[in-house]
Amino acid sequence: MRKYPLTDTRWHSIINNDTTADNKFFYGVKTTMIFCKPSCHSRKPARENVLIFKTAKEAQAANFRPCKRCQPTGNVPNTEWVDEITHFIDTNYQRKLTLDRIAEECHGSPFHLQKVFKRENGYTPAQYLTTIRLAKAKELLKNSGLSVKSIALRVGFSSDTYFITVFKQRNNQTPDEFRLENV
Ligand SMILES: [Zn+2]
Repeated sequence: MRKYPLTDTRWHSIINNDTTADNKFFYGVKTTMIFCKPSCHSRKPARENVLIFKTAKEAQAANFRPCKRCQPTGNVPNTEWVDEITHFIDTNYQRKLTLDRIAEECHGSPFHLQKVFKRENGYTPAQYLTTIRLAKAKELLKNSGLSVKSIALRVGFSSDTYFITVFKQRNNQTPDEFRLENV
């Protein structure tokens, strides 16, 4: 595939959300594999991660997905977006994740993202995040000798007390009780 250079003019169009550059080129961000119109208001990418495409088709051929916010191909189906959000949570649950952070990384507004995610799944991104963290914690309780505190922090909870509270609410037993039963 032909490579187009990221000229200073193009870079300025991207960082200034220049609508006059729309449809003249598209830019993909290597770290997220999402591509945008120059005018997109998503978080500014690092210049070294930007790839330029002449058409949306070229970006898609290079495995970039259209941004949900600026919709460079028209409409992104919600199911596809929800898959993307789910994948993002699955691979980043160990980090400190807020709704704002998830929305920023998945290119949408927090309110809209939460609404669409909940409509598709019946639960919020935060509830899903907790489910993933608890499932990972159970694996570690069963298969590792790590302390409850280390497990709590490793799966992304801010403290072990909070982890124990949430664990008990969902499972009707403490992590220690669960471990005793399952080792
Ligand atoms: Zn965009």
